[in-house]
Amino acid sequence: MSTKRTVGMYASFDRSGTTTRASHYCAGCGHGILHKLVTEALVELGLQDRTIIVNPIGCAVFGYYYWDVGNIGAAHGRAPAVATALNRTLPGAVVIAYQGDGDLAAIGLNCALQAANRGERMVTFMVNNCTYGMTGGQMSPTSLIGQRTTTSPLGRAAATEGYPLHVSELIDRLRAPVYIARCSVADTPRILQTRKIVRQALEIQRDGKGYAFVEVLSPCPTVAGTDPLQAARFVATEMEQEFPLGIFRDVSGAAVPSTPAPAMSLTELFAGCHERDLPAPRPDPSVTEHRLIFAGSGGQGILSLGLCVVNAGAMAHRFTTWYPTYGPEQRGGAVSCSLVIGGQPVGAPTVEHPDVLVCMTAPMLKQFLPLVKPGGMVFCDSLIVESDTPLRHDVRIIAVPATELAAAAGFARGANGAILAAMFYTNATGLPEQVFADARDLSFRRKPDLIELNRKVFASGLAWCRENLKG
Ligand code: SF4
Repeated sequence: MSTKRTVGMYASFDRSGTTTRASHYCAGCGHGILHKLVTEALVELGLQDRTIIVNPIGCAVFGYYYWDVGNIGAAHGRAPAVATALNRTLPGAVVIAYQGDGDLAAIGLNCALQAANRGERMVTFMVNNCTYGMTGGQMSPTSLIGQRTTTSPLGRAAATEGYPLHVSELIDRLRAPVYIARCSVADTPRILQTRKIVRQALEIQRDGKGYAFVEVLSPCPTVAGTDPLQAARFVATEMEQEFPLGIFRDVSGAAVPSTPAPAMSLTELFAGCHERDLPAPRPDPSVTEHRLIFAGSGGQGILSLGLCVVNAGAMAHRFTTWYPTYGPEQRGGAVSCSLVIGGQPVGAPTVEHPDVLVCMTAPMLKQFLPLVKPGGMVFCDSLIVESDTPLRHDVRIIAVPATELAAAAGFARGANGAILAAMFYTNATGLPEQVFADARDLSFRRKPDLIELNRKVFASGLAWCRENLKG
């Protein structure tokens, strides 16, 4: 038996090491029908090479086996965020967020509403089958009153589980969307109507006219425990009664094509975290990129120390990012920040394996020391090195008596200044002396009475390094 290839889909589906022409969808599932309508429209409109589909978590998670377009996967409910990034960075692209009701209307509702409210140039297809299909039929936000699911075995009750969520109507309260429609794939007349709606939503994307939302009522015979015909009947009767079909909004005729708001580069985005009015970076491929992690506990000034170093990098015209991570506690909890300082625009602001680690608590030293790249450097207060601290012979560990030096200089809280001195002395970041001094003073500009004390700690740290380190 031969099966005809749907235009716009791959010639074969190479799933889990098997080549097949069968999709993973159950017989009678609406996903396959919608896939076909979307791909046919993309081909007819000549959009295949411009299109990127963001695949969801849910039954459509393997959409990328079928769509012969650009594909990307998103975390649960986050397809609109990924689609937003694509929209902003690839101005000519047609961007589709393909989601189910569990993915979009529960964990992803805020993400979906915000993208709609911003009027991102994308279309969201929400397949609404009133259940979580992939995970075995739990109640979803759109499950009907009285509908039995694995998590509402007595039937959904408004008093305890609330009412079915009407996503199209919610989005219709927002000003930015250009097109909002609800359609169905329950039978042939409805599929033909859905074909038109899908096509129109994609035309809007082709013309760059803004945000479109298409909700598609779809059967899920497997979870319903019925045959495909009964499942389709459920969609056409009970689901439609709760979720009437129709075009809620179509202002695409009057909508003006727009270009998406330009994406900020990571350098611009994270530069916002540190000092303003610092010199612009200058590309210099000869500069080695340094990737650093500063870790400690809240209140120790570890993030400020990171900022100080990243500001020093900016003062030397380097490209820099500073990316903080906080524990749930305001003070005393684990905090860390990733820094990148280099001569080229920064690709990723997070650092997994640093060249340089600065640690100010024993638990953070134990956590981060194993991650340092071989040949890297580790700076810490000698107080935090404990008998069970794991040893690394392939990294240089510089344990500075920072707290002691700071206390002796009359600024007990300024231990970071001694660590900074050690970083400078060992040339851990390749930055010149003057920017270190300027950045250090800049970090205390709101507490001018501490500048002199901090300079003293820095000087003590340098003196200790000269005596105890080889350079
Ligand atoms: S479980 Fe339901 S939604 Fe999922 S593939 Fe099967 S029929 Fe489709």
